[in-house]
Amino acid sequence: MPLRLYNTLTQEVQPFAPLSDNTVRMYTCGPTVYDFAHIGNFRTFVFFDLLRRWLRASGFKLDHVMNITDVDDKIIRNAVAQNKTLEEYTAIYTKAFLDDCAALRLERPEHLARATENIAEMASAIHKLEDDGFTYRSDGSVYYRISKFKGYGKLSHNDFSGMVAGARVDVDNYDKADARDFALWKAAKPGEPSWDTEVGNGRPGWHIECSVMAIRYLGDTLDLHAGGIDLIFPHHENEIAQSEALTGKPFARFWVHSEFLFVEGQKMSKSLGNYYTLRDILAMGYSPEVVRFLLASVPYRKALNFTFAGLASAKTAIERLRNFKLRLETAKLPAGVNAAIADHATRALAGFREAMDDDLNTAEALASVYEYLRDANIALDAGEFQTGNLAGAHALLEQMDAVFEVLKPSASTDGMSEADIENLIAERTAAKKSRDFKRSDEIRAQLLESGVIIEDTKDGVRWKRK
Ligand code: AMP
Ligand code: ZN
Repeated sequence: MPLRLYNTLTQEVQPFAPLSDNTVRMYTCGPTVYDFAHIGNFRTFVFFDLLRRWLRASGFKLDHVMNITDVDDKIIRNAVAQNKTLEEYTAIYTKAFLDDCAALRLERPEHLARATENIAEMASAIHKLEDDGFTYRSDGSVYYRISKFKGYGKLSHNDFSGMVAGARVDVDNYDKADARDFALWKAAKPGEPSWDTEVGNGRPGWHIECSVMAIRYLGDTLDLHAGGIDLIFPHHENEIAQSEALTGKPFARFWVHSEFLFVEGQKMSKSLGNYYTLRDILAMGYSPEVVRFLLASVPYRKALNFTFAGLASAKTAIERLRNFKLRLETAKLPAGVNAAIADHATRALAGFREAMDDDLNTAEALASVYEYLRDANIALDAGEFQTGNLAGAHALLEQMDAVFEVLKPSASTDGMSEADIENLIAERTAAKKSRDFKRSDEIRAQLLESGVIIEDTKDGVRWKRK
C-alpha cells in the first residue's frame, strides 16, 4: 500500500501523493528566533525531517519551504533590552537554530524564508485583502474580519458559536471587533522596528507571514502543510482564512500535525521552565544522534514523555545497531546463504516500509529491524550467518538509516568522538594482525582511559562506553 498520512482537515488517514510533477509542495512552520530552541521544538523539526525523508523514499521530489520568524513581540523586546538591532539579534539565534539542525542531521528545506525579507509581499497581500473587504482598520493597524470568511474552523473542527479565546489569540494588545479577529498589520510603535509600506508604517502579524511566503514560493495550493499541534488553532486556521480569501482556492490539501514532547505530563515549554536546549543535553555528554533517535522513534502523533531513561535507551539502541553493523563488517563468515535469515531480511525490509507508509509509524518500523537483528545475532553466534546474508542485512540497515540516520557517529563535543574510537579500533585490529601487540595493548589502554571498553569476540571487536 502507498504512503498514507493523517490529514487534520478531513480527520482521516488518507493516501498521499502530490498533485503535479511528482513534486511535493510543502510548507512547515519554522522557529521564532528569539532564543535557543529546546528539544520540544526539535521534536517538531525532527518530524519534518522524517517526513521529508519518507516522502523521498516514496519516490517523490520535494519543494519544501520553512519560514524563519525574525520579527515578533518577543524578539523586539529582547533586542531592545540587549541594545541590539533586530538583525544583530536574530542573526545569533538563526545561526544557533541552523547549527542545532545540522547537529541533529536535519535536512535543509529547499527554501528558508525569512519574514523580514518578504515584508513588501505581505503588505501587498494585506492591501488586496483590504480591497476585497476582509479587513478593518483601527489606530493604523489592520485586522482580519473573521466573520467575512465562511469556513473558519474547518481545520480545527471548532464550533465558534460559544467562542473562547485560544492561547495565542490575544498575544497583542490591539483593538479588535471580535475575539477571533487577528492583526494582519501592526501600526508602528515608538522605539520599535517598522517598515514603511503600501498599507502604512508598521510590521506584519505572525499569521500573514506564512500565508504569503507559502504562496510566493509554492503557489496557491500546497500539497502538504505541517506544524506542531499547537499551531492548528489559531495559526493554521488563520493561514487558511487569509490564503483562501486571497486566492479563492484551497490552501493546502493535507494538514499534518505532530504531538508534543512532554515532561512529567506537561508540555515542554519556555514558559513552564521545564525545558532543555539541545546544547544542554550535549553538554551532559550525549551525542546529537541520541536526541535525534529518541525524538524520531515515537510515532509523531503520539505524545512523547522526555526522560533521561528514555535518552539512555536511545543510546543503547544506537549502540546495538552500530555493533551489529561492525559485526557484519568484521565477522568471518562461512560461504553460502542461510535461507531463513535471508527470508527474515526480506520480511523485515517490507515490514519497515509498510510501517513507515502507515502514517510514519517509526516505532513499528524499528521493531521490524530489531526483530531481524535478534535473529541475525543468534545466527552469527552460532556460525550460521553466511556471506550470502550480508547483502540483505546491509539493505535493511541502509533503509533504516536513510530515515533515522544514526549509524555514523558524530564528532562528539565531549570526550573521545565515536569516529575517533572506531578509527582506533581499526588501528588496533591492524596492529594485532601485524603482531604488534605492544601497540594494540596501548590502544586498548588509551580507549579504557577515555571510558571506552572494547570486547574481542570471535566476530570482531565490539565497544561500549563505561
Ligand atoms: P516557536 O519557535 O515557539 O514558534 O515554536 C516552534 C515549533 O515548536 C512550533 O511548531 C511548535 O509547535 C513546536 N513546539 C513547541 N513546544 C513543543 C513541544 N513541547 N513539543 C513539540 N513541539 C513543540
Ligand atoms: Zn506558520
